[in-house]
Amino acid sequence: MSSSPRAIEDAVSVSAHLYERAAAIIPGGVNSPVRAFKSVGGTPRFIASARGCTLTDVDGNEYVDLVCSWGPMILGHSHPAVVEAVRQAATGGLSFGAPTAGEIDLAEAIAARVEPVQRVRLVNSGTEATMSAVRLARGYTGRSKIVKFSGCYHGHVDALLADAGSGVATLGLPTSPGVTGAQAADTIVLPYNDLDAVAAAFAAHPGEIAAVITEAAAGNMGTVAPAPGFNAGLRRLTAADGALLIIDEVMTGFRVSPAGWYGIDGVAGDLYTFGKVMSGGLPAAAFGGSAEIMNRLAPLGPVYQAGTLSGNPVAVAAGLATLRAADTAVYAALDRNAQRLGGLITAALSAADVAHVVQFAGTMVSVFFTDRPVTDYATAKASETWRFPAFFHALLERGVYPPPSAFETWFVSAALDEDAFDRIAAALPAAAAAAAAATPEGSRA
Ligand code: PLP
Repeated sequence: MSSSPRAIEDAVSVSAHLYERAAAIIPGGVNSPVRAFKSVGGTPRFIASARGCTLTDVDGNEYVDLVCSWGPMILGHSHPAVVEAVRQAATGGLSFGAPTAGEIDLAEAIAARVEPVQRVRLVNSGTEATMSAVRLARGYTGRSKIVKFSGCYHGHVDALLADAGSGVATLGLPTSPGVTGAQAADTIVLPYNDLDAVAAAFAAHPGEIAAVITEAAAGNMGTVAPAPGFNAGLRRLTAADGALLIIDEVMTGFRVSPAGWYGIDGVAGDLYTFGKVMSGGLPAAAFGGSAEIMNRLAPLGPVYQAGTLSGNPVAVAAGLATLRAADTAVYAALDRNAQRLGGLITAALSAADVAHVVQFAGTMVSVFFTDRPVTDYATAKASETWRFPAFFHALLERGVYPPPSAFETWFVSAALDEDAFDRIAAALPAAAAAAAAATPEGSRA
């Protein structure tokens, strides 16, 4: 494997051609910004197929997948049970715009895992789930303001884009043009893991805050677990003021444990949002909570929320098959694989003398180039993110595909096998050396 620019260009010439074609018709050539490799440079790989833990690009290069479609693919790609469920569902019809039994099964499966969830509504994306949960929280409380945390990402909902993580962080955007002052005015943005700031916000706006929304464990500024007592403190402060606590488990849900982060810290939210794993890789997501709150939704109540394709039978089948296949062995493998990956990264970076911390939140893992723990967005941004592009590309060129951003969680699947770990272990020393040699001004040579 060579890493000279010429050799790399040759190795991804079909991807490069497709990227050029895509850029002429799709803004930036991609349908979600981080896919464009903007913060790491280089040619995004166009994927032809995926199986198990391996992605194959259109040039025939194979990669160990550490993105897992940004979370959903805990079983690995093309899992036979999921593919068969999709095949059967598709054979019976793609969409009806009328209720199906599968929707009940999926809603019941979610509620059975996350105790505070008594009612579930299915939607099509995590963004739709958080947008709907925020509207419901406002409708239920009759209040306007929402508290969110810097570096947390809840999808591209207007009111929640302020100081957001994920692609917004990757591209260094404070918020987005197109979000009006009125939409942003009701959003209070606070530092993650700072309960004093939350208490001060409630003191400054008593009876005005509809909800606090938080990632159950933050994964969109890199992996930053809640400090001990943080989520419980949010529960206490919201309840004391009559505000709702929206726990966003779109990333953590059914990944970090069968019951998501709730299965780890047991803090009960009023509303939950889910996506990713529960969709099996197809477009499906959900929000849920107590019957009392959820029954304010139309058609029972006045808070409107709807969707032509919501509860789509094929997406529901994929999600259900994924949840059913995710047994204790799968969660044990996810745990083991995240720890093993983190251990390998630490070993390589330590050997190359690169200051770093590898952080975990259950089975979520990421690396920051800094010598002190990252607890919020400010400390995440203060890390030496300029080392990441070199680290990333050295891995990619050696057949390991991490997320193309310093501000994203790395996602493992249960399908990672010994060959995959051999490949990761073989690639890491060169990546660590590249990170060591990187400079703040330097771009990829
Ligand atoms: N909430 C969290 C915590 C997420 O990580 C994401 C996406 O990464 C979303 C919401 C938005 O989900 P989607 O991309 O399906 O709209």
